Amino acid sequence: MAILAQRPHAFQSKFIACQGEGVETKPEGLFAIEVRFLAGLTQRQQDAFANAAMRWTKVIVGELPSVQVDGELIDDVLILAEGAQIDGPGGILGQAGPTHLRPFGAGDAAAIPAKGRMTFDTADLEELESAETLDDVIAHEMGHVLGVGTIWEQKNLLIGARTDSPAFIGAEARREFGVLIGEGPTDVPVENRGGRGTADSHWREELFRNELMSGFISSSGNPLSRLTAASMGDLGYEVDLEAAEPYDLPSLLRSFELRLNAMRSGVDMHAMLPILPTMLPDDCMEND
Ligand SMILES: [Zn+2]
Repeated sequence: MAILAQRPHAFQSKFIACQGEGVETKPEGLFAIEVRFLAGLTQRQQDAFANAAMRWTKVIVGELPSVQVDGELIDDVLILAEGAQIDGPGGILGQAGPTHLRPFGAGDAAAIPAKGRMTFDTADLEELESAETLDDVIAHEMGHVLGVGTIWEQKNLLIGARTDSPAFIGAEARREFGVLIGEGPTDVPVENRGGRGTADSHWREELFRNELMSGFISSSGNPLSRLTAASMGDLGYEVDLEAAEPYDLPSLLRSFELRLNAMRSGVDMHAMLPILPTMLPDDCMEND
């Protein structure tokens, strides 16, 4: 498929987010996301990427070891974003994920993505915009680029993959899930339905509904919860849980309403194609 081909590095503009704001250059010691806009995105769509990067840099705060990727030094993560004509409204929404992971030699930061790509079908972007789910969908996909569901196995944090009951076992996420259900630390249920790219890589929709990193986005208002923020801590990021967005597990009734709503107008995030990332060799590490 043509859209899967790597495109040249020419880009029109970029956005750097740090501590929840757009910045000119990356401050020392803090985590920054750089989004480079290739072609095919309107200003409103570029703003959605910028908003997403600002949301994630509120909860991810500490910088990571720099690495050399494709001949440039990356600190902390570089995301290439583009719109492309794929298959019109519906069908394939696009493709997103990390392309390059930090090497084993990076210690706690091993396997944490250094570079990723987010490509969306321009026809679907227009639909997301009118459904007012554009911002949450972009933030959700950026979560995968940063490692949600995409490096869980590399970090040995997923058990029961490809079974009926996969779960995330990171200590910080277990603690936050325990708080949500009013118990002690508990394994976090992971999506067990859908194919590759859905199962084993999201919080379980049945339970979490409108949490940003469950597998289905039906309307705007999908919080990036303490649970997701804590899971990023388990991956090896330095996080600020107090900066997470307010979220509670939905009641049974609310859960039913959300499900009806999802059936009427939902964006099936399963329509994103995954990317198989490459683990960088140790000599890509920057020597201080
Ligand atoms: Zn997803």
